[in-house]
Amino acid sequence: MFHKILIANRGEIALRIQRACRELGIPTVAVHSTADAEAMHVRLADESVCIGPPAPMHSYLNIPAILSAASITGADAIHPGYGFLSENAGFAEMVEAHGLTFIGPSSAHIRMMGDKIAAKAAMASLGVPLVPGSDGVVPDMETAREVAARIGYPVLIKAAAGGGGRGMKVAETAADLEEAWRVARAEARAGFGNDAVYIEKYLDRPRHIELQVMADAYGNVVHFGERDCSLQRRHQKLLEEAGSPVMTPAQRDALGATVTGALAKLGYRNAGTLEFLYQDGQFAFIEMNTRLQVEHPVTEMVCDVDLVREQIRIAAGNPLGYTQKDITFSGHAIECRVTAEDPETFMPTPGLVTAFHAPGGLGVRVDSALYAGYVVPSYYDSLIAKLIVHAPTRPEAIARMRRALAEFAVIGIKTTVPLHQRIVDAPEFQAGDYTIHWLERFVGAEH
Ligand code: ADP
Repeated sequence: MFHKILIANRGEIALRIQRACRELGIPTVAVHSTADAEAMHVRLADESVCIGPPAPMHSYLNIPAILSAASITGADAIHPGYGFLSENAGFAEMVEAHGLTFIGPSSAHIRMMGDKIAAKAAMASLGVPLVPGSDGVVPDMETAREVAARIGYPVLIKAAAGGGGRGMKVAETAADLEEAWRVARAEARAGFGNDAVYIEKYLDRPRHIELQVMADAYGNVVHFGERDCSLQRRHQKLLEEAGSPVMTPAQRDALGATVTGALAKLGYRNAGTLEFLYQDGQFAFIEMNTRLQVEHPVTEMVCDVDLVREQIRIAAGNPLGYTQKDITFSGHAIECRVTAEDPETFMPTPGLVTAFHAPGGLGVRVDSALYAGYVVPSYYDSLIAKLIVHAPTRPEAIARMRRALAEFAVIGIKTTVPLHQRIVDAPEFQAGDYTIHWLERFVGAEH
């Protein structure tokens, strides 16, 4: 097992990883920017190292500073969390080149899945169904027109290097194609330094359903079931559930078998998530994330597993130690992502939190680095807390979430708690009857 783990992240996920390390008896090193000197992940760490000024480019993305912090503290492994360097294949390579262990997949697999076109090609060759679309990069407008005519409008132009919902544009008809093509490429160039794009059929009423997988270094692959992440705004998830209200156990077994079989052939290692769109009874792969996901706690609640602990154990060379049939699903879990944003305009609301009360009680979990007196900085992602509930059935989980949201108190800044309250009260949500487009309309219709 590792002697000391450096956590190359901040906020709630840095704390989440610290907690897993502590339960395994492994000391941790926190890294932080000057803006985060008073942050909870620094206060609770065994050791901490300042790695630069507030701008992420110079701190949480500063690879030499992070490797130096590992070296001076004697850490022998690095957990990247999500975001920042978690899907940077070059970082994983450098970590390994310095004789440290990267807690995640191989750099080759990170690179492959980071290129969405390569990821789709790899998955197709392993028998995983895809959203219909172009065969790889679409080099010019003429090809774009041909592809769109073949698959039929509406179509979606997507950045090969995309992430966070950027570099994605819909063309409803042939008349919109040129404009969508131009904007998607410009966004891709600005956001990712790579303007390669591809085209997919734009599905009009899909759900976003993803499968959590875990693989060891010895070819054993299991899945921990699905998460339904269809409640999105601007292609960003706001609320997630496990299991999906629309997926049957038989569908879960079938998709799970396809996916675990494919990843075993690929020789994939550590945690991963395969994202699918589900419409008319069909699952279609869109991308794979080669890291821990923000929404991993809902899976942990229904499977009674610590996914971060599993990542660490596997990275240290341990076998899984269980098979698919040992993984069982109990009850229903829901997560609300609470952000420091105005619940009506979605403008960020950084500032001083004068008082904070986290909900509690049976089946309630709060993953947060917030405390009274904390100043939410303006430099980073606005996520301030994940509120997770678990109950025997979906209606009971909804009742519990409603109760927990009412207890949630953050004084000093506006948060999205009122928005989550409106969502859980909506009849469509309660009926489980929503697609990826529902929330945008709901938010728009309400204001
Ligand atoms: P990113 O990596 O930027 O998050 P994804 O490929 O994961 O991009 O897609 C993000 C979201 O965009 C999906 O969850 C879904 O809501 C929407 N989306 C992606 N592809 C399609 C598609 N072909 N049709 C309709 N919606 C899509």
